[in-house]
Amino acid sequence: MVLNKEIHAVWHKVRGKRKYYLLARACAQTYETLFRAHGLWKLWEYAELFADLNVPLTHMLKRVRAVYDDPKWIAGPNEIRMKLYTCVAQLAHSSFSFYGLPFILKRMKALAINKPTGEMFEGRCYNFYRCVFGKNIGNFNDHQNTLFHAADRTARPPFWIRWRDCLIPNTAQAIYDEKRFEDLPILADMMEDAGVDDPEMTSHFRIVTQHCRGCWPLDLLIGRS
Ligand SMILES: [Zn+2]
Repeated sequence: MVLNKEIHAVWHKVRGKRKYYLLARACAQTYETLFRAHGLWKLWEYAELFADLNVPLTHMLKRVRAVYDDPKWIAGPNEIRMKLYTCVAQLAHSSFSFYGLPFILKRMKALAINKPTGEMFEGRCYNFYRCVFGKNIGNFNDHQNTLFHAADRTARPPFWIRWRDCLIPNTAQAIYDEKRFEDLPILADMMEDAGVDDPEMTSHFRIVTQHCRGCWPLDLLIGRS
């Protein structure tokens, strides 16, 4: 599987693991969306908070344990759910394991009821992968230079940040916080109006249809990595 190979490659390149965890979480939620896998939403939400470093690991593990101990997950007709849940729990733990994410994605794909659904799952995971790491796998220096180029390194922040009372960083932060990714094309328009010349960033906002937290150009605008 090409995706798994690429995710392995990424593990060595990303500095912080935040993006890796956010990708894991987005893929897991894709599974829930595709297969209506029975009420794991709360756990996904919590996994996202954890990935974004807003909650301690001990709290995350407590939530995982609470779902695990819920009697409705006990075997029998729920065996598939149980297996799926095990994958979810492992995703939550993927912070510990270099092999975590590729291995779990493979298992989740295998749990799909038929081949096309499994392929669809993998396809969506691949879209999220591109959203988070871009085409050049985690090398965002060129874009950072465009946003914060030398000519602008004065005491004042770059023009695009100051433009219209910080409209761009504020909008970017609001989209991130509220997960209004459908508004990203508007952000692309604003960037061009403010004179940011980075077609790769703006076209990512306009063309890519599936985004998640960790989206690379959005992260650059809000100063996350
Ligand atoms: Zn994106």
